[in-house]
Amino acid sequence: MKTGIITTDSFVNHNTGLGHPERADRVSVIVENLKKFEKKLIWKKPTTVDKKFLRITHSSNYVNMIENSFPEKGFSYLDGDTVVSPGSKKATFDAVGSIISAIDGVINKDFKNAFCAVRPPGHHSEQEKAMGFCIFNNIAVGANYLISKYKYKKIAIIDFDVHHGNGTQDIFFNNEKVLYISTHQYPYYPGSGSYKEKGKYNNVLNIPLPAGTNSNEYLDAYEHVLKKLKEYKPEFVLFSAGFDAHKDDPLAQLQLTSKDYYKITKRTLDSVKNYCDGKVVSILEGGYDLNALKESSQYHINALLEF
Ligand SMILES: [Zn+2]
Repeated sequence: MKTGIITTDSFVNHNTGLGHPERADRVSVIVENLKKFEKKLIWKKPTTVDKKFLRITHSSNYVNMIENSFPEKGFSYLDGDTVVSPGSKKATFDAVGSIISAIDGVINKDFKNAFCAVRPPGHHSEQEKAMGFCIFNNIAVGANYLISKYKYKKIAIIDFDVHHGNGTQDIFFNNEKVLYISTHQYPYYPGSGSYKEKGKYNNVLNIPLPAGTNSNEYLDAYEHVLKKLKEYKPEFVLFSAGFDAHKDDPLAQLQLTSKDYYKITKRTLDSVKNYCDGKVVSILEGGYDLNALKESSQYHINALLEF
């Protein structure tokens, strides 16, 4: 079976303004690059999300507020660095719709696993708060969809974005059906993510790393992720795939290389293969150097293709 790629044209219309790091080219470079591997991939568009699935993750008030926050022209600010424009509405709903499409496709065996090339990203978005370029928490909506629609009881979210996914942690802190694991630069934006934050059911594992952490140091620390996954035995695996821990990324100071994303992905997949039967969906979060993003996402997807 092939790997699914979920993406759509609306993502380039989420205009965040000149000079904003979370910009349209991020998805375009990934998609253009993946066209070279067309034969191994199945391309699919996002589905329209039933809002009842958004309301499991976010409050009704928040979903309504967001729906009405998109300007007819110019820009609106949802927080200091989360900007929306007229084209952002469709992109925002399509980003969530992508993870729903990906999950349905994996469960229906249209493809073995999937990567969603989307923006806006999601992992900083809390139940009632947009922040850090994130509006809806795409991956959290996906995990709750697996629980609500398909009755999964053990979902692992692995977040290797350089920033801590405070939103995802917040949403699942008291939910034993979701294991949230994050590796991230610490102390750093958004401030959360100490190893002491463990979740009500020991279902959160934070692996904070100092600025300057290199490949070998990162991969050594990643052994804790693999150990936790083997203990938890997830039935479905979701990646919050941010590529901003790359040494060339302008927003943070970890020192990973593009090839490390192959190693991270491959080692994760090997550690869970006996439990999740290959059911893996990955979704783009950060990554702000275009060349690093293009290479790193390709290495990540290469591991998905081999699995
Ligand atoms: Zn990030």
